[in-house]
Amino acid sequence: MNNNLEFDQQHIWHPYTSAITPLPCYQVVKAEGVHIHLATGEKLVDGVASWWTAIHGYNHPKLNQAVIDQTQAFAHVMFGGLTHQPAIDLCRKLIDMTPSGLDRVFLADSGSVSVEVAMKMALQYWACQGNDKKHKFITPRNGYHGDTFAAMSVCDPINGMHSLFTKALSQQIFAPAPQTRFDKQWNEDDISPLEDLLKVHHHELAALIIEPIVQNAGGMRIYHPEYLKRCRQLCNEYNILLICDEIATGFGRTGKLFACEHADISPDILCLGKALTGGYMSLAATLCSEDVAQGVCQGEPGVFMHGPTFMGNPLACAVANASLDVIQTNQWQAQVSAIEQQLKQELTLCLALDAVVDVRVLGAIGVVETQSAVDVAEIQKHFIRQGVWIRPFGKLIYIMPPYIVTSEQLSLLTTAIYSALDAS
Ligand SMILES: *Cc1c(COP(=O)(O)O)cnc(C)c1O
Repeated sequence: MNNNLEFDQQHIWHPYTSAITPLPCYQVVKAEGVHIHLATGEKLVDGVASWWTAIHGYNHPKLNQAVIDQTQAFAHVMFGGLTHQPAIDLCRKLIDMTPSGLDRVFLADSGSVSVEVAMKMALQYWACQGNDKKHKFITPRNGYHGDTFAAMSVCDPINGMHSLFTKALSQQIFAPAPQTRFDKQWNEDDISPLEDLLKVHHHELAALIIEPIVQNAGGMRIYHPEYLKRCRQLCNEYNILLICDEIATGFGRTGKLFACEHADISPDILCLGKALTGGYMSLAATLCSEDVAQGVCQGEPGVFMHGPTFMGNPLACAVANASLDVIQTNQWQAQVSAIEQQLKQELTLCLALDAVVDVRVLGAIGVVETQSAVDVAEIQKHFIRQGVWIRPFGKLIYIMPPYIVTSEQLSLLTTAIYSALDAS
């Protein structure tokens, strides 16, 4: 191992990794289009778009230029009392493109923070109306909403390792995860456990928080749009706000611009992140309805008490604007639907393997669920030999490539998964 990697292993935390027996890390020297180039010379097709973010690929000329131009104007100014064109343009675009009724934008610096903001808005909304009983959240199991404390409290209790933090974590209410698959016949029984919980608990509930259509890092599960539709109806019926976390699903990934569109609903509060800047830097947004905004700011204290130092960072807003322009002019719909067709054809072949229990595809998301947990270090060596970058967790091998992936590059990804599991 060279000096750099040794230093890295001894001193640097990586995501979800042991400080004592860390998984190996590979050093990157360049990334361009769908490719990640390693210091050791390999050129890998990125199957995970750097965790859902790099939807247009790396080193994109339009996105690069947006950062350069904004750097030359100004890189950052505080957002308290100051504003700027990149933020104004971005918020205008977000209001236009998201489901109707979301007219107020709070710019946050990461997905988890946008979830904190959403939850805080919901709590303050009820508190400012003199209702101090509604301070809990309800959410289906198998969700993932981020790693900060409020977000963590609504993550799946098992995957989120709640047992480690029981005393420090707010206790929320968990409904069973939705069971009806996206493309199967809707089953009315699927919604009744949630409805039963709402009947009992609605007096103490501020909001229902859910990832629309695809539960991502909490299990890569794809569920029926009717479930989401019913969530919207039940929230209206029981006087609870609906928070949709589209941090992973937003900006075309599921075949619609936003996954809420599959169910034709609008939430009261919407979280966006990940692909917002096309994978260039950390930026997220919490959008809410006029009713929520008014509710939060009526009475005392009359303000929403949140304001990150780097709120509305102009560089991040500028590159987000460039990414949204590419979405608006680009062929994302055709690209995502071609990826979906090909993933359905090619990943389905994995069902013939003994190691595989399920294959799920929606839009540019492909999931292969295995019988037992995969050895990440081992399978990654295989993937790198095959010229691809895929990072499984547990029993889930999943891909969500940049939308610009070609059919040949996509086949490289699906064949690498097949051969890894065929050999095992
Ligand atoms: C990634 C993710 C988050 C957290 O975003 P960060 O930017 O990592 O803080 C929250 N919700 C969902 C659905 C996500 O996929």
